[in-house]
Amino acid sequence: MTTTPRIAIIGAGPGGLLCARVLQRHGIPVTVFDRDAYAEDRPQGGTLDLQEDTGQVALRAAGLDRECAAVARPQGQEMRLLDHTGTLLFRHGPEAGEETRPEIDRGRLRRLLLDALAPGTVRWGRYLRMLHPLGGGPHRAEFDDGPDETFDLVIGADGAWSRVRPLLSDDTPHYCGVTFVETGIDDADSRHPDVARLVGDGSMMAAYDNKALLAQRTGRGRIRVYAAFRGSQDWALEQGVDLADPEAVRAALLRRFSGWDDRLLALLRDTGAGFVNRPLYALPVPHTWTHTPGLTLLGDAAHLMPPFSARGANLALLDGCDLAQSLARHADADEAVRAYEAVMLPRAAAAAEVAARCLDDAVAADAPQGSLRRLARRH
Ligand SMILES: Cc1cc2nc3c(=O)[nH]c(=O)nc-3n(C[C@H](O)[C@H](O)[C@H](O)COP(=O)(O)OP(=O)(O)OC[C@H]3O[C@@H](n4cnc5c(N)ncnc54)[C@H](O)[C@@H]3O)c2cc1C
Repeated sequence: MTTTPRIAIIGAGPGGLLCARVLQRHGIPVTVFDRDAYAEDRPQGGTLDLQEDTGQVALRAAGLDRECAAVARPQGQEMRLLDHTGTLLFRHGPEAGEETRPEIDRGRLRRLLLDALAPGTVRWGRYLRMLHPLGGGPHRAEFDDGPDETFDLVIGADGAWSRVRPLLSDDTPHYCGVTFVETGIDDADSRHPDVARLVGDGSMMAAYDNKALLAQRTGRGRIRVYAAFRGSQDWALEQGVDLADPEAVRAALLRRFSGWDDRLLALLRDTGAGFVNRPLYALPVPHTWTHTPGLTLLGDAAHLMPPFSARGANLALLDGCDLAQSLARHADADEAVRAYEAVMLPRAAAAAEVAARCLDDAVAADAPQGSLRRLARRH
């Protein structure tokens, strides 16, 4: 770029941080704003498998592939599919030497990206309330906790409920018809060895009759568990279940999954952690917008999709990488954003279609048949 635009990234998720890192590698100044009070303010969730054609490409461009490999777990790639009787229908484990989709804990990835940024890049505790167009590209950003600031380019990396997106698109996320209830088991190998054996070294899904139990190793002996089911997002309210009462949620889930093999029900029974209700939302497919000078989106803000194909964070990383590289390549920031959007939007639409189909296969009346066919095709 010939002139240096003032660039703000809203959101210190994987996409925003990766974008900031690649910009800084190219000598382009950037400020990241996040509503979290500090980096570890909020649990960052489970693990991600870093996919070869997306997340790994981005981390290489960020110069962090070696650091990442040092903390990732290649065995996390194992995938098991079971039915509700606990019968193993499909298993794919990494072959010797195969490290194509290593797993990394999300918290570790955030820390890795943060440590790679110049000190002071991220301003924590800054919630973007509103953007005010100033004409011709620049926007004044209004924050809840801090003074307004003006930027030539605002990058919305602020996730599902983006405050930047409404300036570009009228679309809002819709409920996908499936809810996840998340919980976890600590010290699984020592305290719940049967569960640990059932889940294996990576992830496991048991599916049947519009329901699924998913379990995922997250390192340090912890297993993250999701109970997934098709139905109203107000299921707890309708059944009089207090979501703040772990024992009430546990009992409701055990009722919902009754008839499933006892080894699978242990995933709900043996959890020490509480339960977090996560109705799944998605943006329409394709989600697109008319190019607008001074603004763009990446990651979930641009293409929120169901998590079943495990691509959301990987795409956010690649978006961040592509946008930063485009800004480094083009003399004009607006041309750079146009070039990025021309690549990112169709890519996101294709991935979102796959994610929607994966969800429909996994939590389906004839489950696990659809997932079985999909896995057999993939491997
Ligand atoms: C249950 C579940 C499991 C998943 N599993 C996987 C998986 O295995 N693999 C995978 O690739 N993806 C997975 N995903 C998807 C993945 O989590 C997201 O796609 C990914 O986090 C998107 O990254 P992002 O950087 O776009 O946004 P986010 O990670 O959502 O980050 C957005 C950031 O913006 C900040 N923010 C939000 N609003 C504001 C504001 N107004 N002002 C300032 N800051 C703001 C937030 O604090 C946050 O730090 C899963 C999602 C869910 C729900």
